[in-house]
Amino acid sequence: MKFIVCPSCGEEIVIKDLYEGVEVQCDLCGSVLLYEDGKFILLDTNEEFDPEDLEKDFSEGEEDIEDEFDDIDYDDFYGE
Ligand SMILES: [Zn+2]
Repeated sequence: MKFIVCPSCGEEIVIKDLYEGVEVQCDLCGSVLLYEDGKFILLDTNEEFDPEDLEKDFSEGEEDIEDEFDDIDYDDFYGE
């Protein structure tokens, strides 16, 4: 199981099996990524991405997630 970030919209994509020629689709924006020659190719634009660039670093990402929650001011959403 592998997690990458969609290069189009930033949504998290779960890859259950990573092997040569596999296609993964982003649930959010529908972009399709093809894994080939050790790279992800975004089929919409034929852009190539290194897997390392798309991999989400969960060990260091936790702080960012907390920061995002801190930024949400619920009064702004529900106060009026
Ligand atoms: Zn996407």
